[in-house]
Amino acid sequence: AGQGGAVLEARGIAKSFGAFRAVDGVDLRVADRTLHALIGPNGAGKTTTFNLLTGMIPPDDGTVTLGGTDIAGAAPHRAAQLGIGRSFQITSLFPDLTVHENVRLAVQASHAARMNAWRPATGFDDIGHETGEMLRWAGLSGMEDAPASSLSYGGQRLLDLALALASRPSILLADEPLAGLSAAERERVGNLLKQVSGVLPVLLVEHDIDRVFRLSDHVTVMNEGRVLLDGPVETVRGDDKVREIYIGS
Ligand code: ADP
Repeated sequence: AGQGGAVLEARGIAKSFGAFRAVDGVDLRVADRTLHALIGPNGAGKTTTFNLLTGMIPPDDGTVTLGGTDIAGAAPHRAAQLGIGRSFQITSLFPDLTVHENVRLAVQASHAARMNAWRPATGFDDIGHETGEMLRWAGLSGMEDAPASSLSYGGQRLLDLALALASRPSILLADEPLAGLSAAERERVGNLLKQVSGVLPVLLVEHDIDRVFRLSDHVTVMNEGRVLLDGPVETVRGDDKVREIYIGS
């Protein structure tokens, strides 16, 4: 990566399940090169919001734009083409292929997708170079020849992150990237996400509030389908409302 990311903007997005408004008019703006966390108690509407932003589900109301292009309700593959990198779907790994092969395939697919008349076909050197770069970047260099299935859960998360980045997204969205990891792995994946956010915008839904407050630049707090609070981490961290909803949940 290195091209800088696009701004993701949601305005007035809403989604009901039956008569229940899970997301009730949410505005959200993820700026470039920002680690932006979406937090809130269980049932606040975070995952539904995330799914609206990635095009997994269409909104009943409102707009979602990425770099000014309307992406609301775009099918997941279309959202990916438009630059949404959605990480932490470990199911997308090829378990029998090596770590290196998995990353190489993702880099190749991304090159193929970007190839067109004005851009000459990319050489194998580029693909090999980029693959190595992604592996180093994710801290997987020593494990290149291991089958993906032999990695620890944390290792698979790192590989998954490398795959998401190999597609050269203009924004990275991660739903609970730290869930189920050991303390050391949380530290590692958290630091990687921080590093990524120096290049691209990163939006994450995360339960580990202490880590969110340590890593994030910007925090949106949801409660009961709405935005309760939104601002720089320093502002949100000290707000009494945040403490209240967490103690209440
Ligand atoms: P969070 O991620 O903050 O825990 P969710 O977005 O998962 O919140 O859910 C918000 C509310 O919407 C919850 O009350 C949940 O039960 C409800 N909900 C989520 N998805 C569905 C669905 N597919 N059908 C019915 N209700 C749903």
